[in-house]
Amino acid sequence: MPDSAVGIDRGVTVAAVTSDGTFHDRQFITVGETVRCRRLQKKLARQKKGSANLRKTVAALWRITGRVTDRRTDFCAYTANRITARNALVVLEDLRTRNMTASASGTLDRPGRNVRQKAGLNRAILDKGWHKFELALRSAARHTGSVILLVNPAYTSQTCNRCGHVDPKSRKSQAAFECTACGHRDHADVNAAKNQRDAGLAFPACGDLGTSRSAKQEPVSRATGRNP
Ligand SMILES: [Zn+2]
Repeated sequence: MPDSAVGIDRGVTVAAVTSDGTFHDRQFITVGETVRCRRLQKKLARQKKGSANLRKTVAALWRITGRVTDRRTDFCAYTANRITARNALVVLEDLRTRNMTASASGTLDRPGRNVRQKAGLNRAILDKGWHKFELALRSAARHTGSVILLVNPAYTSQTCNRCGHVDPKSRKSQAAFECTACGHRDHADVNAAKNQRDAGLAFPACGDLGTSRSAKQEPVSRATGRNP
């Protein structure tokens, strides 16, 4: 039986990481497009305002941006379909909670004003993509009957999924998690995604997904044709 409940962590370097250890990622802009974008931007800076040439350059830039956006949309839809087809319960972090906690306390692992501002900007960009992904999941879930659940992500990255010990020091680096209490090792994003999944399963209505079932209340992943 496949993992019928899944938690998804929004990675910084990878678009999304699921609790089953899958990294969902894709490069949205090609190397050639990056080079071309840079060249066009330089050109744009030299061109006269209101000129026909400037308009041409702007149009060329928009064409690249449009292609990148299309790819991102495709990726979101494809990944959302894959995930909802395999899982009856999909657990995501609630971004509103995250932003609230971040503004109140700052981030422990990112001291320094400029660093934090930059982190805030990066997060805003990530949030935008994440929101798009959430919408794609909700849309895909209408066909599969999967339940999309948002949970408070506080401490999911610092908590050991094996023993429950909470310690920011367990997060050794961007990618590595090693529990300071029990020594459990995992990829940091996968560990966080597992905590997310478990937080979702702890919800009263979803807790019995894996064990008992009643046809009435249970969300069934129809696309797989299997009961979770
Ligand atoms: Zn542990």
